[in-house]
Amino acid sequence: MLSYQQPDAAGHFGPYGGSFASETLTHALTELREAYARYQNDPEFLAEFHSELKHFVGRPSPVYHAARMSREMGGAQIYLKREDLNHTGAHKINNVIGQAMLARRMGKPRIIAETGAGQHGVATATICARYGLECVVYMGSEDVKRQSPNVYRMKLLGATVVPVDSGSRTLKDALNEAMRDWVAHVDDTFYIIGTVAGPHPYPMMVRDFQSVIGTECLEQMPAMLAEQKANTQQPDAVIACVGGGSNAMGIFHPYIPHEKTRLIGVEAAGEGLDSGKHSASLQRGSSGVLHGNRTFILQDENGQITETHSISAGLDYPGVGPEHAWLQEIGRAEYVGITDAEALAAFHYLCRTEGIIPALESSHAVAYAMKLAKTMPADQSILVNLSGRGDKDIGTVADLSGADVYDRPSMRGLGVKGGPAA
Ligand SMILES: *Cc1c(COP(=O)(O)O)cnc(C)c1O
Repeated sequence: MLSYQQPDAAGHFGPYGGSFASETLTHALTELREAYARYQNDPEFLAEFHSELKHFVGRPSPVYHAARMSREMGGAQIYLKREDLNHTGAHKINNVIGQAMLARRMGKPRIIAETGAGQHGVATATICARYGLECVVYMGSEDVKRQSPNVYRMKLLGATVVPVDSGSRTLKDALNEAMRDWVAHVDDTFYIIGTVAGPHPYPMMVRDFQSVIGTECLEQMPAMLAEQKANTQQPDAVIACVGGGSNAMGIFHPYIPHEKTRLIGVEAAGEGLDSGKHSASLQRGSSGVLHGNRTFILQDENGQITETHSISAGLDYPGVGPEHAWLQEIGRAEYVGITDAEALAAFHYLCRTEGIIPALESSHAVAYAMKLAKTMPADQSILVNLSGRGDKDIGTVADLSGADVYDRPSMRGLGVKGGPAA
């Protein structure tokens, strides 16, 4: 029996995690740790959290048996946990609600966040609108350009979006800027981090909020598998994509004691794990300190963070949550890579075969499930965390295939009525 009890009181997952932050943040982090310790098991807090998840997010999200896809793969049955059906289109909102509820109880009227693709920013702006909190979102100026629909969404929701012009003008620069803001405004500001990274207690707290995903699966899978006349109650493997690692920790954590279930995290292999153009921190990185915790990071021999690449902005991060570094080290989870091309193929495949447009991030998990299923017998099962929907990615996919999302004249050939030529 695996007795997994992580983290310790100081936020260590084995040698990883902890809290590496400037002195000016010590008080804010202590205050946050105390607030979370007070509310994490508070029945009233938890009842409100679950009520929000039910009525505002639409939980529980269903588990769906991808029967056509499973048949075509000719191996294990593939099940999809439909986080794409959540309000705002991904798992991020689960965590944002939890942290915003804490902010209100701590009397912090101002929320800051950082975002890469804009998904965490949109989720944060959404909850701030609902709770009447001020919202400032930091975003690399390169990402502001690439993700203009999400920038506009945040503005519609009443948030202020601050473009960050330093460094590579992407997520890690936005994170640094958000940290600076927090140092300057600790008294009235709560920093909502979007993944299982940052200084203690963030990796643990974000994991706890996201664990609703795996907890629901533990309840949903026995009935799904009974329908398939499987002889197990739980899936043989659980697969999730790993950027910072929050959707993966959310589905993995409740499964850790179920030792017969393999846990498989899929990192972005970009143009290949040996191409130097990827975001595979666990497979090609080494131990170091980034954004307030010790974990696996992509760095050069001088400890400088190296440039990362992925087709999906949400996986394009040079670090990873410290708990994943620990799960890899103790062998409880395995980490693999899927390239841009493989993810894109899985994206198109799921659209055409199951009628689901997945996020490019989630497409990495789908791609690995497709490979793995073929090696397993038909009475075994794989559960994939479909972390988000792909609406946000159709521009990227259209560009890659030389199409144009707004190419109205091309619709004439499809018999669309009312166009200029109709
Ligand atoms: C942000 C995002 C991810 C990556 O973040 P994790 O913290 O690794 O979960 C994955 N999928 C979707 C849809 C996202 O929006």
